Amino acid sequence: MTRRPRVVIIGGGFAGLSAAVALCRRGLGVTLLEQKPELGGRAYSFVDEQIGDTVDNGQHLMMGCYDQALSFLKTIGAADRLVFQENMTVEMIAPGGARARLRAARLPGPAHMAQAVMRYAHLKLAERVSLLVGGARMLAMQRFERSSLERSSVSALMDRLGQSENARRVFWYPLTIATLNEEPSQASAALLAEVLRRAFFGRRRNSALVYANVGLSELYCVPSRAYIERSGGAVMTHAAVTGLELDGGGRVLKVRLREGREISADYFISAVPWGALLRILPATAAEDAFFSRLNRLSFSPIICAHLWLDRQVIDAPFVGFIGTTTQWLFNKDAIWTGRASRAAAHLSFVISGARSLTERPNQELAEQVLSDLNAMIPQARGAGVLRTLVIKEKQATMAPSPESWAARPQCVTPLGNLFLAGDWVQTGLPATIESAVTAGHNAANALAARAGLKAAA
Ligand SMILES: Cc1cc2nc3c(=O)[nH]c(=O)nc-3n(C[C@H](O)[C@H](O)[C@H](O)COP(=O)(O)OP(=O)(O)OC[C@H]3O[C@@H](n4cnc5c(N)ncnc54)[C@H](O)[C@@H]3O)c2cc1C
Repeated sequence: MTRRPRVVIIGGGFAGLSAAVALCRRGLGVTLLEQKPELGGRAYSFVDEQIGDTVDNGQHLMMGCYDQALSFLKTIGAADRLVFQENMTVEMIAPGGARARLRAARLPGPAHMAQAVMRYAHLKLAERVSLLVGGARMLAMQRFERSSLERSSVSALMDRLGQSENARRVFWYPLTIATLNEEPSQASAALLAEVLRRAFFGRRRNSALVYANVGLSELYCVPSRAYIERSGGAVMTHAAVTGLELDGGGRVLKVRLREGREISADYFISAVPWGALLRILPATAAEDAFFSRLNRLSFSPIICAHLWLDRQVIDAPFVGFIGTTTQWLFNKDAIWTGRASRAAAHLSFVISGARSLTERPNQELAEQVLSDLNAMIPQARGAGVLRTLVIKEKQATMAPSPESWAARPQCVTPLGNLFLAGDWVQTGLPATIESAVTAGHNAANALAARAGLKAAA
């Protein structure tokens, strides 16, 4: 009987866990190593000891077009913890309190979105038509002017498409910051076009927003670990890899752990952020052009604030704010199935592309969020604040600049048995859950092909 290949996966976020699950499905012997006490990486939950509720490090939204992520969650048995919007519905509040809904019509895609835009009351009629024409031109550019799109920023693209200041303010820029986590002047137009193609120009279901009704760790970390262990694999936490050891022929022999232990395997997947990968590679490999270009990538931060109030101030699961520092408000009482604390309301706020704010003290940020809440939701004025918690994720995602497009590597490396996964690996997508899982699956497929296994069914 032939021995099944042994694989070591470094990193226990969405990318590493999805690669591990995919390889377990194919019968490979998997050991996953995570440096922290818990799995989850940049998408995890914990219990806030002061109030007693579960808290996500930041609210995570998915979409119906997250094919790879949704298939991974189904495989690990987590699909029933997801809530799918039947029709994409996003309510946006403008300064002064005017509200307008972007709501997909009950029509086949992409007519469902065309009608949503034509009914979006924050836009004048001519702006709605111009937005639809602009979207169609963006898609045409994706096919016929790809390289110019890849070099362009979102704001430069908006100039080219003749989009009004108002259309940028109430539609394009909130969409860019939410999906790309970057200011439009810095964000890649090619990535925005891909988001638009997948989310809005496909099936009606693709544009539905999807969220978990439990904390992130319960959603995917606990079930992934159970799946891997049931399949005969191993998951080790507190297992920081400090180095990869190579043989003379350009292959990885083993990983060294901080505690001194070494683990050898036939194949390796690195599912850690690029900086962590450069630190564990031997210097000779890190200087190779394939790896050294990763030094051109950079991070973009996200700030998340949580407020617990003594009364409910909103019914909807979430709303978008236009023109305030705070961009999104999530109502955890409408999103989650239950909470432990007796606070009447748990609200979670997101500020993406927050580079200019990360040095501001947490107290100041909490006050800013509260002031934005009071300005946009008058019912919140006078509510008692029971607790505030601010989480700054300074390295939330790869900054999606036009320069990053060329610097992102494929999953196959010059080291014959080392493969790369992570949201920052080239998937053609912004650094999101879908990108992380796509990269995890791509790495698993490339590894299986290298190991001579048949393509996955
Ligand atoms: C606040 C916030 C909000 C977000 N919102 C959304 C959203 O709404 N929708 C969406 O799609 N995406 C969102 N994202 C992005 C999403 O969280 C990431 O794209 C995804 O979690 C990245 O997963 P990953 O596995 O690639 O990397 P990571 O989650 O970073 O996993 C890498 C893992 O490797 C481990 N590691 C590093 N070095 C070593 C080592 N030497 N040895 C062992 N282990 C190591 C790390 O501890 C970590 O657990 C958000 C991110 C943040 C921070």
